[in-house]
This record gives sequence, C-alpha cells and structure tokens, in this order.
Amino acid sequence: MSRTPLIAGNWKLHKTIAEARTLAAGLKDAPSKHVEVLVAPVATALHAVVETLAGSGVFVAGQNCHSENQGAYTGELSPLLLADAGCTHCIVGHSERRQIFGETDAGVNRKAHTLLEVGLTPIVCVGETLAQREAGETLAVVKSQMDGALAGLDVAKLILAYEPVWAIGTGKTASPADAQAVHAAMRGWLAEAHGEVAQSVRILYGGSVKPANAADLLAETDIDGALVGGASLDPDTFLPIVHAAHKS
Ligand code: PEP
Repeated sequence: MSRTPLIAGNWKLHKTIAEARTLAAGLKDAPSKHVEVLVAPVATALHAVVETLAGSGVFVAGQNCHSENQGAYTGELSPLLLADAGCTHCIVGHSERRQIFGETDAGVNRKAHTLLEVGLTPIVCVGETLAQREAGETLAVVKSQMDGALAGLDVAKLILAYEPVWAIGTGKTASPADAQAVHAAMRGWLAEAHGEVAQSVRILYGGSVKPANAADLLAETDIDGALVGGASLDPDTFLPIVHAAHKS
C-alpha cells in the first residue's frame, strides 16, 4: 500500500511571530503533490503561520497540548484551541516533553484521545535513549511506549514518529538500516494488534535529518517521512528534505 510521505518541521522554542511569518512564507511553494508538508511553530506564532500558509497546502501543527479541552489548567493549550487557531495536527510525546517535563505514555495517550475527539491528527513520538539502545532494549522500549501511548486509539487516524533520543539535535543519525529495522517492527506490532490498517499508518523517522541524509532514510520501505528539528528552521535546509521525499 502506498503511503504519502510527510515531512514535518518542529520549530521547538524558536522564532518570534515576525520570524515565523518569514519562515512560513519561504515554504509556501513547497510541493503538495506526492508529499505532505507540515510545520509546528511555537504557540504564539500559530495563528500567524496559519494565515501565512493559507492556500499553500502546508499543514500547521501544535508541538504539544493538554489532555483537557478547557478548565482550570493555567498555562496549558488544548486540542480545541489548536483547532480554533487553524491547526490540523499536534505532536505528542516528543522526547523533550518526556525527558524535561516528565510526560508518560498514559499522559500521551490521554492527549491523543482528546486530539482525535476534536478532529486533529496526533503525531505520536516514541524512541529509546542511548543507554537503552546500548543495553539492547530498543525494541522492548519502543513496543512498551506504543502499547501505552496508543491504547484504545483508532490507529488509522494517527501518525507515528520513531525518534531515537540519542539522535535528536546531536548530529548523530540512525543508519537507514537501523531505522528501517525499528520501523518494520513497529508496523509489525501494529499489524498484530490492528490488522491490515497497519499498512496505511505513516511512521516518520526523526533525529538529525538533514538534506545530506534524507534521501537514504526515505528510501527505506517503512520510513514514511521525517520529523525534522534543526533543519526545519531554514527553507534552505528544510525544502531539500521535502524534495527528497517527493522523489522517494
Ligand atoms: C525533533 O525535534 O524531533 C528532531 C528530530 O530534532 P533534530 O532534527 O534537530 O534532531
């Protein structure tokens, strides 16, 4: 089954509203056939980026959300409000959220449920640390994260991202073969639990994806796109990754 590749840029805690508008304007002409493109700006710039990208086909996502849509949750942002701002997707369970802010698989699962309730697509991140990889625990860790984070969800409506923690922002990338092995295992577990729909679920790779390594990663059978941090902050490094996916 063919899966349209998705190249997603996670801008993390970067860009003022004016800078975000400029970056978004540089992506307006990104190809929108045979590849999907998405950006996840900081919350303050979401609406401006949605306005800038209107009519372009580039999707806009939140980087995180709360699991409740409204209430006494000072400082939080909800799926309902992300949708109101024009977002179509939201990243959940990014390793920075897990490591710095103590997020758990159960919490990620609650967020994903609420996102689906309001019609947003969760991009659910999983991935092992360097210590876990060196201890040979990669597959067990990723399986356990998937079991917890995906419980009770309609997996046909979400996107997964495999992001080995040791490859994020470090310049180290999993080799295409190593990444493919984990992606294939992930699809296998999806198939065991959910059947044929596993063939249509997109699994992105994330971790120091750059123009120089994108084509080789995207050529792998079960790598259906990329979640890109650092290289998404400039059209000169992000668009070549989009073009690599367009050709893959
Ligand atoms: C990320 O933020 O999800 C990421 C993969 O970052 P980088 O591309 O900078 O490693």
